[in-house]
Amino acid sequence: MEFGLIEAIRARTGAGRRDVVLGIGDDAALLDVPAGQQLVACTDTLVEGVHFLRGTAPEDLGWKSLAVNLSDLAAMGAQPAWAMLALTLPAADADFVEGFATGFAELARARDVALVGGDTTQGPLTITVTALGCVPHGAALTRAGARIGHDVFVTGTLGDAAGALRKMLVRDDVPAALRARLDRPEPRVRAGLALRSLASACIDVSDGLAADLGHACTASGVGAELELGALPLSADLCAAFDGETCRGFALAGGDDYELCFTAPESSADAILAACANVNLRVTRIGRVVAGSGVRVLDAAGRVVDVPHAGWEHFAP
Ligand code: ADP
Ligand code: MG
Repeated sequence: MEFGLIEAIRARTGAGRRDVVLGIGDDAALLDVPAGQQLVACTDTLVEGVHFLRGTAPEDLGWKSLAVNLSDLAAMGAQPAWAMLALTLPAADADFVEGFATGFAELARARDVALVGGDTTQGPLTITVTALGCVPHGAALTRAGARIGHDVFVTGTLGDAAGALRKMLVRDDVPAALRARLDRPEPRVRAGLALRSLASACIDVSDGLAADLGHACTASGVGAELELGALPLSADLCAAFDGETCRGFALAGGDDYELCFTAPESSADAILAACANVNLRVTRIGRVVAGSGVRVLDAAGRVVDVPHAGWEHFAP
């Protein structure tokens, strides 16, 4: 049974990279890391009922489980190359596995990522993907480089996935564009690569802008001030919710998978050009200040409350 499932995954995702010396089938994968490059590794788990609703399409889960990991690589300025998949399934459900592998392969092929191994076990539906990528020695972006006076930017638009989730939870119709942002996030890999030489710090927004930027501020030993009116909102989100709700989603909603980064003012023109070059909106949303934490200011300069600060698994 397990072998059949692994075969089904391998058949749909069959590695297409020459640097895969040994992929699925041996005890471990054997990969050629290019000379002069550093290996960048990350892993993320999706648990049914915690990270996704029961009944989510297997194709979407396959896509998203890889996408969230490629988003982490993007935030490091890494070029994705390989992935590993640990699947825990309640039962040997071939339809689920085929659908899952199809969605996973769709994104993997589009981003030239080879699935090179994994594990398949029985238990509550849980998906753990490990993604591996490369970056030239010393060129990785980290959370730690933000300096006082730098600008804060974010790619794309914020809050769309949170808007979709809200609509689903209240059993309302979910606008297709919002649903796509929740189910099929596009990792900002090309932006991450372009930002390598431009950004001072970078993080991907998965738990809400305020919380994630807060992590970068902590790592950098600085604070940040955001302009409420500058938060980039999609027309689809604005059509579905009032402005205050939209801004709440943008600040504290999860699952955006945009890049939030800082940069010296001297890089601003190059950043706009680099993002235009990869067809991605980018918005300056604030600045790095002395101190700690993220403050959000309205048009009059008053501090606004952030709805709630990020998702915490072990919150009391
Ligand atoms: P072992 O018992 O030696 O760990 P497994 O039977 O778990 O071997 O796995 C056999 C091969 O199939 C290995 O190469 C492993 O990486 C791969 N594999 C197992 N499960 C998956 C999966 N869900 N996705 C991709 N590859 C997998
Ligand atoms: Mg194993």
